[in-house]
Amino acid sequence: MGVDVRREDVRREDVRGDDRQGVPLRRAALLAVFALSSALAAVATIVPSTDAELLLAKVAVPEPVAIRLDEALLPAPSTFVREDRLQRGDTYQGLFARLAIGESDAQLLLRQRSLRSLRPGTIVTAEVRSGKDHEGELVWLGFLAARDVSVRIERVGQGLVASEQRAQIVTRSVLKSAVIRSSLFAASDAAGIPDAVAIQLADVFGSDIDFHRELRQGDRFSVLYEMHWVDGRPLRAGQVLAAEFTNQGRRYRALRYADNYYAADGRNMRKALLRSPLELTRVSSGFGMRMHPLHKAWRVHQGVDYAAPAGTRVRAVGDGIVEFAGRHGGYGNLVIIRHDSRVATFYAHLKAFGRGIRASTRVAQGDTVGLVGQTGWATGPHLHYEFRVAGAARNPLSVPLPAGTPVARHDMDAFRARAQGLGAQLDLLANSQVAALE
Ligand SMILES: [Zn+2]
Repeated sequence: MGVDVRREDVRREDVRGDDRQGVPLRRAALLAVFALSSALAAVATIVPSTDAELLLAKVAVPEPVAIRLDEALLPAPSTFVREDRLQRGDTYQGLFARLAIGESDAQLLLRQRSLRSLRPGTIVTAEVRSGKDHEGELVWLGFLAARDVSVRIERVGQGLVASEQRAQIVTRSVLKSAVIRSSLFAASDAAGIPDAVAIQLADVFGSDIDFHRELRQGDRFSVLYEMHWVDGRPLRAGQVLAAEFTNQGRRYRALRYADNYYAADGRNMRKALLRSPLELTRVSSGFGMRMHPLHKAWRVHQGVDYAAPAGTRVRAVGDGIVEFAGRHGGYGNLVIIRHDSRVATFYAHLKAFGRGIRASTRVAQGDTVGLVGQTGWATGPHLHYEFRVAGAARNPLSVPLPAGTPVARHDMDAFRARAQGLGAQLDLLANSQVAALE
């Protein structure tokens, strides 16, 4: 009963505050009464639920505020640290305003040359003074520029002075795993794995798995990769150090050693030809599942169709020499690459040719031969890909491929030692997952 009385008090206070000072003060008054009475009784019974939410929302504003200890003893903090991101299409003035930097310092900042190295997407941190006489006065402003240069613009007297130094980057290994439900990117998103790592995975296993056509629901992977941090914030992903991919029940494991990836027994993961001529991107990755094949049976069709957005990069699946690049009837814009005396690959319906792609030029595996289009007999943008052995079309997925150079014999001991360490980490994750499922 006593609780109810206090609640009435709150309401009356509320109304009086409203009459005199308007809404902001009403909330301030509520806050004050709330603080007092919460010491006396349970919170929920004192403040009606809508107001309680209001208070919570007010308290939970996630504004990073750093106050020095000596300043914490003063009635109000004299400086605030704020962070905000320079958005695409943003203006410097807009950013400075969000950081609460006053007009005169904003003008000074605009004259700083080092501001030119600020790129969209970058988080900018600024410490700014508050209070009557110094409102909006900049103490310092900092951000990370290209090539990991840390830029700091600091107040010195009435002016601002910029300095640059190499950022302190901390690198840690991260171990994660995911199960494929719809696409590689959906799985990596769900596991909090950066796109750059997903793309590296597709690259590392690109000789064994066609990520556009062979992924199945329930495929899984574990990956150990480097993550670079600066100022306690993840900056970007580094190299994949080790990974295991289970595709349609077949398990592949890759370990990084001397800038290459090898299987645990030292075989090179890179083969003479890639499984897929299509670059894996966030946009192209989900396309295979929605694809409506122009020709149903491969036997009739003599090739493989990859539905993909126009403009997706088409890669040479292996080293070779361009035999033909030009218009060719129903193929539209066509590139033929000869890999050796027997094997040749065809890339058709291209929208455009890659730079320097013309007859008798040499290409390396992964080079851009062109962009996906719908020239020739095509009802929508797609890549028509043919794999020919001694002139006869073959199903590229069924052709065994020669592998790249294995780990050299004299490196084998060093490789094994490293492979064991990396493999043990992958095993650890695999085992812990089994434990979690049991
Ligand atoms: Zn086709």
